[in-house]
Amino acid sequence: MMTVLYAYQGNLYVNLTNRCPCRCTFCLRQTRDEMDGSGSLWLDREPTVDEVKAGLDRHDLSKYGEVVFCGFGEPTERLDAIVEITRYIKENDPSVPVRVNTNGLSDLINGRDTAADFAGIDAVSISLNTPDPEEYLRLTRSKFGPGSFNAMLTFAGNVKNYVPKVTLSTVSTTITPQEEERCAEICRGLGVTYRIRPFE
Ligand code: SF4
Repeated sequence: MMTVLYAYQGNLYVNLTNRCPCRCTFCLRQTRDEMDGSGSLWLDREPTVDEVKAGLDRHDLSKYGEVVFCGFGEPTERLDAIVEITRYIKENDPSVPVRVNTNGLSDLINGRDTAADFAGIDAVSISLNTPDPEEYLRLTRSKFGPGSFNAMLTFAGNVKNYVPKVTLSTVSTTITPQEEERCAEICRGLGVTYRIRPFE
């Protein structure tokens, strides 16, 4: 049984795809198949938008803190589906916030400036990982190569014109306090929030 929608820490997660242009050295997919009893997040095939909508109909969205696009892959590989499903959620229950967790490489994945597509989404959370472009490439092994880090920052700066909450994050204990200060500075420059996530 493949899992498309799953509840995790009070939120409802949408697992749209297993595709991703990165092969992060720390990717959870390397060591597990699911999140807290979600069922396997490896998809036999990608769910259609109608299947996701039908799945959402079976949930009382007001019970969840947020609907989050995030799973075993990079959600912006299916940006059109995110847009359509978000519109559907907002038509049915405008009070439930929608977040996208992303590696921030949407522009490279889709071959254009995609920031405006995120209008209507409440929050975008981007993995910054490190303040250093070379280290970023070493960690993410992005197939787009050395331009990836700057493309991610450009996307973050652009998407904040459309999305109220844009956050760049690193993981606690994985970089030095000095590096965290450089990350905070990058975020101040972009006008987005910096968050240090707990180590999982
Ligand atoms: S961007 Fe996310 S899904 Fe893709 S390899 Fe990195 S951690 Fe895994």
